[in-house]
Order: sequence, then C-alpha cells, then structure tokens
Amino acid sequence: MQTAKYIWMDGKLLKWEDANIHITTHTLHYGNGVFEGIRAYKTKNGLAIFRLKKHIKRLLDSAKIVMIDSPYSYKEIKDAIVTLIKKNEFKNNIYIRPIIYYADGNLGILPSECKVRFSIIAWEWSSLIDKDGLKTGIKAKISSFRRNSINSTMSKAKAVSNYLNSQMSKKEALDCGYDVALLLDDNGFIAEASGECFFMVRNKTLITPPNDNSLESITQDTVIKLAKNMGIKVRRRNITRDEVYICDEAFSTGTAAEITPFYEIDNRVINNSQTGKITKKIQKAYFNLIYGNTLKYNKYLTYIL
Ligand code: PMP
Repeated sequence: MQTAKYIWMDGKLLKWEDANIHITTHTLHYGNGVFEGIRAYKTKNGLAIFRLKKHIKRLLDSAKIVMIDSPYSYKEIKDAIVTLIKKNEFKNNIYIRPIIYYADGNLGILPSECKVRFSIIAWEWSSLIDKDGLKTGIKAKISSFRRNSINSTMSKAKAVSNYLNSQMSKKEALDCGYDVALLLDDNGFIAEASGECFFMVRNKTLITPPNDNSLESITQDTVIKLAKNMGIKVRRRNITRDEVYICDEAFSTGTAAEITPFYEIDNRVINNSQTGKITKKIQKAYFNLIYGNTLKYNKYLTYIL
C-alpha cells in the first residue's frame, strides 16, 4: 500500500507510522464503525475533491444509523480533510478514507466504556480496477452470496461490518476467475456489486436498481444526473438475473471503480465484448466532470488551494 507523510487522528496530525491503535479496539472485535471512500483528482487548477459535501453527509448519516455519535461536525471534518491533504503535499490523484470507530475501553458486545474515535487517511492512488479494466471491461459473476438482508443489516450505512459480505463475494468471484461479484437481494433482484453499483442499457434506456438494498451511491447519483443531462432516458427499477444476460451494455460505478464496463456476465458475452456507445458517453462525461472540465458541475469539486 502506498503511504503518505501524515494521518489525521482525533484532531492531531501524526506521522503515518505513528498512527496506531490498541488490540482491544472495540470496532476490531465487533465491527461497529463507519467510513467513507472519497477521491480527489489532479485538475489543471490543482487537486479537487469530488462531491466532498455529499460524502461527509453520508458519513454522518452512516454514524447516525448505527448509533455512533460523531465527535466532529460537518465543518470540522471538512476542515480536517483539507488540512491533511495540504500537509501531505500530494502530487497525484488521491483516495481519502475517514473512519469513525470505537476505541478500547471494554470488550463486551456494547461499547459502553469506549470513546468514539475519528481518523482520516489519505494517500496517492490512481485506480482500484486497473486502467485496462476501465477501457476494455471486466468479467462479472452473479455471487452465490446474497446482499446483506435489510432486516439484518443496514445498507444505507457505509458500515465496517457490511463489508464481510462484500469481501466474501469478491473473493469467490476472483477465485472463480472473474473480476467482480454481482449480488442479488433476498427477492432475487440485482442489488449491487461488492463495492460498486450496477447499470445496464436495454433499448437505449439506462437502467439501475433503486437503493432498497444498497448503499446510496454518490457515483450512481452523478451518472444518473449526467445521463439525463445528455438526453439519455434513465429508469430506476428492479433487474432480474436473466435480464442482465441479454442487456445491450452493462457497467459498474463507484468512487473506486469510476465507470467500469462489463464485457461478460456469468459467461454471457455483452455487446460483443465491446464497450457500448452509452457507456463510452457516460465515461467521457464522468471523467470531464471529475477533472474539472465541465463548468456546470464545478460545484461538485472542492479545490485545494
Ligand atoms: N456499494 C457499496 C457496497 C460500496 O462500498 C460502494 C463504494 N462506496 C458503492 C456501492 C458505490 O458508492 P459510491 O459511488 O458512493 O462510491
């Protein structure tokens, strides 16, 4: 993993190697913590954080859902992120990971004697899925794991514990020779990928599932806005497994995945293994936006000056 000079921990800037926690940290044992994944891109006007406001709002909402009292306000979190980035003097695109968790105190199930702690990590990072994946696409497998059930977990929270399900499905997909897992919900509809949302195109309409059983994705929201703005018809509705096999185009979206085309799903070839026209249009619009080339959407960028 790429490192950086400093990590922000509970109001202090610590050297990367000094930002450590105790083995009895409650979240490590029982999994109640929330986090965010944010990116900043190197634009011609300097580093710009993509949709920072929305990410901080989702972080605080996640904390509320799992009943963690954030020790910091929206403004304090925003200022801390900006301070950390400036202090690290990054030269390239970065990934930013704020996390709110329970510290050490007691080791019963409830963290009754544990303080809430807050850290922000940021490091230089280009892409989770390699650049070839973005251009030529990846292979998806419908997972044997169902998405976390909404009666057991809470998918609107970007909660640490939700990611066991993500990890198991991703590992299964990779072990079976695929690149990404698509998870169905309890009713058999596509929920999302292990850490991305799903889109498909049928009859020139862009279709993505509602967020009934998935994270309210910021990239998904952005793609819907961009598509509508380009005159592409967008529908949010349930998608079945068999429909995915006969779609005209398919791609995943996420802070990490950006816009990644699928060329195969469960060994059914999509669009002759070519990135489709609508996918390409959306990829282009998305990259223009995040790199600050679309005036209309500059409101989504927080420049580090
Ligand atoms: N679903 C899950 C489970 C995720 O972890 C992510 C990544 N945060 C997404 C969807 C995509 O969300 P976003 O576009 O906000 O990154």
